[in-house]
Amino acid sequence: MKRQAVAPVPLRSATRQDCVACGQRCCRSISFEVDTPASPEDFDHLRWMLAHHNVFVYIEHGEWYVEVAVDCAMLEDDGSCRIYETRPAICREHGVEMEPAVLCEGLQDVIATYERYFTGIDELEAFIPGYLEGLKKKKGAARRTLDAVRRAVRPSSHTKRK
Ligand code: SF4
Repeated sequence: MKRQAVAPVPLRSATRQDCVACGQRCCRSISFEVDTPASPEDFDHLRWMLAHHNVFVYIEHGEWYVEVAVDCAMLEDDGSCRIYETRPAICREHGVEMEPAVLCEGLQDVIATYERYFTGIDELEAFIPGYLEGLKKKKGAARRTLDAVRRAVRPSSHTKRK
């Protein structure tokens, strides 16, 4: 779905109350970056991923990511972390009262900050034609620019050699 730009949220640390209110969003999914799709074949791979339950695809700052909504096995029923003292660094980056202050994803509607957030195949398929057409135009413009540069630097065949 197309997202509207949202006003930036003031930067501050997450508090323990924030974590309780958020529902431990950062413990309930994993995301990983994927190559920016540039062909129908690339999109077919993303279509396959989106065919699965609890899988989402999003674009953030021009980069493409796949998100899998799955609870961490270390998350206790009361929302606490079973391995809190030795939790991985990525968990600490979402930490409580970090200095300098970091903006926890739970403190904003993080999905609203994504350029795009695809929740299923249909949404992606509606997006693909326009996106690939845009890529084609960009490549055409780049090629024309390169050709113009080459023409400008190439010695003219009419130039007399001494
Ligand atoms: S290891 Fe702990 S802090 Fe990290 S995602 Fe799992 S439950 Fe959350």
